[in-house]
Amino acid sequence: MIPRTFLPVISELAQRIDDLLPQTQCTKCGFDGCTPYARAIAEGRADFNQCPPGGQEGVVRLAQLLGRPAKPLDISHGVERPRPRAVIDESVCIGCTLCAKACPVDAIVGAAKLMHTVLNDACTGCDLCVAPCPVDCIEMVPITGDATGWDAWTATQAAAAREQHARRNARLAAEQQAADERAALRVRQARMPWPPIPAAGGVDTGAAAAPNGAEITSGAGTGSATSDAQTTASSASQASRPPVAGDDGGVSIEALERARKQAIIQAALDRARARRAAGQPDASSARKPPGT
Ligand code: SF4
Ligand code: SF4
Ligand code: SF4
Repeated sequence: MIPRTFLPVISELAQRIDDLLPQTQCTKCGFDGCTPYARAIAEGRADFNQCPPGGQEGVVRLAQLLGRPAKPLDISHGVERPRPRAVIDESVCIGCTLCAKACPVDAIVGAAKLMHTVLNDACTGCDLCVAPCPVDCIEMVPITGDATGWDAWTATQAAAAREQHARRNARLAAEQQAADERAALRVRQARMPWPPIPAAGGVDTGAAAAPNGAEITSGAGTGSATSDAQTTASSASQASRPPVAGDDGGVSIEALERARKQAIIQAALDRARARRAAGQPDASSARKPPGT
């Protein structure tokens, strides 16, 4: 556990380490991208020689920053090599989209069931798209001759890759939030009472205009909550429950709300008819002041 007072120092150090990493986001260091690896180094949870894309030059740069002696790249995380680029054999691609989902910098474009292609300038050569491809049609092709590590990659390219990775993370977060909101909406709709039960104790659940123009106030001064509920329940047989989103996946909250209001109006009409049949004054005339 790191003491709180050290956290700002750790964060600043992690930022400076991150600035020295190649930002290919390949995860070969054993972490989910360059920033988590930088944080792990700063916190003493990882050694500083685990980044193959940075190569030996990258290890030396980190050693200088940390004031430690340089050491060889730990090849258990991968070897230093000329930087490759992903190339898709489009004649074999079946458009499954798995490679695009795996790419940490959104360098693969295409649509479901259509062939995919790589945006050459955006590809960091991270290899992450190769394994998911079910038809093995992605090849990593070296493009930097004999140059390896930082000799094959520039700070400008690293900055662009970092920005692209941040954009992708923001997109994924927005998609996740939208999915969470849709799921929450489905839960709310599924819990919504049907048919709607007007509030007990004569509290209005909302006034609405009946088709004939008369004001209808559901539940207001029209008897006990029990009779309200009974009357409302009787209208249930006349009103069918509208589908909720998730029943067919396409019902909007507006449609559900419209149906809910219609049921309230129907319940109020039922009560008015029942009172007229019993020879009682209707709710609107019962509320009129004497002499009007
Ligand atoms: S480039 Fe790859 S190995 Fe190097 S720090 Fe980033 S994710 Fe880790
Ligand atoms: S296209 Fe493949 S190799 Fe290139 S960045 Fe994306 S996942 Fe990595
Ligand atoms: S994973 Fe392979 S088959 Fe699927 S879209 Fe990518 S290149 Fe095409």
